[in-house]
Amino acid sequence: MKSLSAHRRITVKIGSALLVDRTTGIKRDWLAGLCDDIAALAGKGCEVLVVSSGAIALGRNILGLGRRALKLEESQAAAAAGQIALAGAWAEELARVGLKSGQVLVTLGDTEERRRYLNARATISTLLKLGAVPVINENDTVATSEIRYGDNDRLAARVATMMGADLLVLLSDIDGLYTAPPALDPDARFIASVEAITPEIEAMAGAAASELSRGGMRTKLDAGKIATAAGTAMIITSGLRRNPLAAIDAGERATWFQASANPVRGYKTWIAGQLEPAGRISVDAGAVRALEQGKSLLPAGVTLVSGQFSRGDTVAILGPDGLEVARGLVEYDAADAVKIAGLKTTEIERALGYQARGAMIHRDDLVMSRISKKDEVHADDA
Ligand code: GLU
Repeated sequence: MKSLSAHRRITVKIGSALLVDRTTGIKRDWLAGLCDDIAALAGKGCEVLVVSSGAIALGRNILGLGRRALKLEESQAAAAAGQIALAGAWAEELARVGLKSGQVLVTLGDTEERRRYLNARATISTLLKLGAVPVINENDTVATSEIRYGDNDRLAARVATMMGADLLVLLSDIDGLYTAPPALDPDARFIASVEAITPEIEAMAGAAASELSRGGMRTKLDAGKIATAAGTAMIITSGLRRNPLAAIDAGERATWFQASANPVRGYKTWIAGQLEPAGRISVDAGAVRALEQGKSLLPAGVTLVSGQFSRGDTVAILGPDGLEVARGLVEYDAADAVKIAGLKTTEIERALGYQARGAMIHRDDLVMSRISKKDEVHADDA
């Protein structure tokens, strides 16, 4: 088990029960301790993203809604009132340890639809690049039951995989996975490491969830499946102590879920797996060499654009010999791609009339095709 700081990019998910006290509101001292931990990781060169629950729990408190069951519009109102206070507390405590922050509220479509996915990822990457900690939550004020995650465990897993994080930490009110829910079974044994989330592992989860949060062990394992399949390792540990991240490195109890592949591979497999590319982009030999070196596809290297595609669609990239060399998610609609084909990065804005992204396809969204010339001829012959 590596130390936290051996990871490059860490998503930390905080459950409502840890951050919000039913009567006194935000647990400022606990939050301060967590922000100290985040600052320590940042000081060691780790990028940290926060997925913070607590808006609805805090909003109940602020709006005097008590503990009764809430109607949809009441929980949305609670989320609205709670989120503003929640984000404010994060901004203040992170500022105290010298860190900038930015609030990002997402809905399901922002991570599930490719076009919006690119936007959400670009914004969060930019925050990280500018040295700000993204503080993320679901946009509960407008989400309705059909289109929401509903629990921040899975949201955090999506964010972690979308951002290519190598670790997801779920801070919970339980210190890890047991062979059965310990509250129900006194013989339950703690499990320190999980290699793969098999049906046997899933059977250990039970269905318990606390009143303040929506997730139980089951949604944590769902999150684990999303994360580990995409190459993000996951830790479940207790956040009930102060400095819960430092505690992990100090050897406190935690269950580690191993990643099954590296994150880039998982995401790129998804791109490579798109069946029929929506369009084709032909490039010159220089661009092919750049792609082979792992660089982005710039408009300058594009010689021809064909097909009707939209931003976020998968397109095939063809070399000068007409054979497919790579696939990727294109940053422009076909009409705009045609306009900027062959242009230098500095000429793009003038050609389009708006400020746009430099790359036609970003290297993170590109995967080299494995079809060799020989295979292609073979396939045609058959
Ligand atoms: N997004 C919800 C909130 O901030 C929390 C969801 C969860 O507990 O998983 O109140």
